[in-house]
Amino acid sequence: MTMLDDKCDVCGRPGAVGVASTVIPYSCAYCVPCLQRNAQPDLVFMVMYETIGIDFETANPAYLELVTYVDGDYIDYRTWAQKRHASEANDPIVPDVENNA
Ligand SMILES: [Zn+2]
Repeated sequence: MTMLDDKCDVCGRPGAVGVASTVIPYSCAYCVPCLQRNAQPDLVFMVMYETIGIDFETANPAYLELVTYVDGDYIDYRTWAQKRHASEANDPIVPDVENNA
């Protein structure tokens, strides 16, 4: 991403101070609070979710300590992934054909 809009790509707030690498080969604009927490943009958590999912027992513990910014709070990967998993269970991508017929 870029700093053209002066917004942090992790939290969306103004005040980006530079571009930094995330834990995957992807760089984005960061504000100071997100840099201090090594917060990751939601794109990174989506990539992690595709590989780790909710298999927290076998995941690298360092990944579980990462945080992202959601609705005004920094939350860790476990919390984010559990919310996403619950969301998918309530709103499956595959339509329920039997009930919609
Ligand atoms: Zn930020």
